[in-house]
Amino acid sequence: MTSNNGSSVQEFEYKAEMKQLLDLIVHSLYTHPEIFLRELISNASDALSKVRFSALTDQDLLEGEGDPGIRITVDSKELTFVIEDNGIGMSEEELIANLGTVAKSGTLGFMQALKDQQQELDGNLIGQFGVGFYSVFMVTDEVTVETRSAKPGSEGYRWRSSGEGTYTIEKIEKAGRGTTISFRLKEESKEFAEEYRIEHIIKKYSNFVDFPITLGGRQINSVTALWQRSKSELKDEDLNEFYKFVANDFQDPLDYLHVSVEGMVSFKALLFLPKDAPPELLYRQSELENRGPQLYVKKVMIQHECRDLLPEYLRFLVGVVDTEDLSLNVSREIVQSSPVMAKIRQILTGKILGWFEDLAREQPEKFRTFYKAFGPIVKIGLNTDFTNRDKLIELLRFESTKTAPEEYVTLGEYVARMSPDQNEIYFHSGSSRSQLLAHPNLEYFQDRGIEVLLLSDPVDVFVIPSIHEYEKKPLKSIEKADIDFTKAAEKEGIEPLPENLLQPVLGLFRDVLGERIEDVVESHRLVNSPVTLVSGKDALDSQMERMMKMMQADMPAAKKILEVNTSHPIIRNLSGMYMANAANPLIGTVILQLYDAALLHEGGLDSTTEFLSRMNELIEAATLQR
Ligand code: ADP
Repeated sequence: MTSNNGSSVQEFEYKAEMKQLLDLIVHSLYTHPEIFLRELISNASDALSKVRFSALTDQDLLEGEGDPGIRITVDSKELTFVIEDNGIGMSEEELIANLGTVAKSGTLGFMQALKDQQQELDGNLIGQFGVGFYSVFMVTDEVTVETRSAKPGSEGYRWRSSGEGTYTIEKIEKAGRGTTISFRLKEESKEFAEEYRIEHIIKKYSNFVDFPITLGGRQINSVTALWQRSKSELKDEDLNEFYKFVANDFQDPLDYLHVSVEGMVSFKALLFLPKDAPPELLYRQSELENRGPQLYVKKVMIQHECRDLLPEYLRFLVGVVDTEDLSLNVSREIVQSSPVMAKIRQILTGKILGWFEDLAREQPEKFRTFYKAFGPIVKIGLNTDFTNRDKLIELLRFESTKTAPEEYVTLGEYVARMSPDQNEIYFHSGSSRSQLLAHPNLEYFQDRGIEVLLLSDPVDVFVIPSIHEYEKKPLKSIEKADIDFTKAAEKEGIEPLPENLLQPVLGLFRDVLGERIEDVVESHRLVNSPVTLVSGKDALDSQMERMMKMMQADMPAAKKILEVNTSHPIIRNLSGMYMANAANPLIGTVILQLYDAALLHEGGLDSTTEFLSRMNELIEAATLQR
């Protein structure tokens, strides 16, 4: 902090990450400079909401000039731009804290996303993160902020910066509370000094701001609480526009729910289903913690993202909940523990799940889009929301061995088409449909036309086994199917290797594989493959084990049982080879190769180096014979 030639103007330096951010904004965001206006209006609107909220409990606030609102003035000759609000304003400390540091999660998230993705900045990314006040440096070289806090005894301050490492603050005379931001537009940004251009941008981004925005004395936006209207008054274009505004999305929503409840509690809600899940939600479910619809009490916004209105697994919904049953001056803590909130949450959750059911029944295409985007999040509810578990189970959709790719079956449909002698619901989990379909363990089921659910969503292994049973049919991984494969094989009249040949072959596998496996047994489930790996009776399902390993790297892998298909030509030939010359070195190579191939099917082969060199060895042996 340095004092500037003894005057009352003080100069401050930006924190390091701040410089980085400013640099990014000025040099990278220029493709969408118009968003500066959205950001400034949104700050002004927040400042007005805050003062409206504080005024409920505090009688001594400083008056603002005129009615609450946002005034914009432009001059196309001088290229000047002024935006003024009579909101909460800022004290000197607040100026330093708010405009001198990047303490805000939105901005940090923005920078992180840039680093993570090294992605070209497009409208989408910008839309997701408000980059805030500093976006103004896209259109100007120097900004002046004059502000006075609404707190009693406050004084006015002028903040000024050219966005290049430092800013200054000085005390000024200012009559009422609020903030005035002014600057001269750069030559290349002169379009923003034209009223028609500004009007267009306000309509586009800020039409539903809850305070009048005037431009040259005319009100531009339509201040309206959409959710207070009756259903018949809701027009698609208003809904779409409102959604884009609250969700910061550039696409229309997939669908919406309008709820109006009166009774034990009264509230209105307008909730939207986005078309896509924001990527950060899928990769970091902890993101859900701080999300939620906006909470209004009697049309006054109380919380921007109210997490207590919805259970975590539904917090990807965007919108507004407005109730008359909370008092306006509730604190965050009271909101959290209020029985009114609990009731609203319970009713709302029921309505939302009902909405999803309706979509599934009446608009299956929409439901499918929804399920693809948000299915992985909704499924979390199975492990957390036991009241609604049955409803959630009905919403589940699976690909199966009998569906086309991206076609889904419900558990109900599965059970309905099970053959009468099938007693269990089978699933097989792995990383992709094609990998699952190629797996040897599926052969028995495919051969007999038994449907198997294919679980390739990583979340599945954590939630699906916990269902245990559906309509009294147990859910089982095919590795753990309660099928007496021996009986099945006998019935089909498949000739197994005679006992005197069988035992030596199994012994061979045991000798070569040693500690790698728990045991080697004769298989009855295989049709076209020579060997496969299955989990021991008490072990985890393979996919489950792989997921656990991903989360806990040093978890020892449980040993598997290797099943050998003794009616397979390779195994029969191997037996013959052994009888002819027990010391043939190819025998060991073949066994190791079969084992590695089985691992490969599971996605469990860590290194392919040996696999490939053994393969060359075998090809060489094969090409020797003419
Ligand atoms: P964000 O709005 O995401 O917090 P900004 O960079 O846009 O980030 O603004 C930083 C902070 O500066 C705001 O959170 C607010 O506290 C303060 N601020 C900005 N504009 C105003 C304003 N017009 N009136 C009062 N405070 C403001």
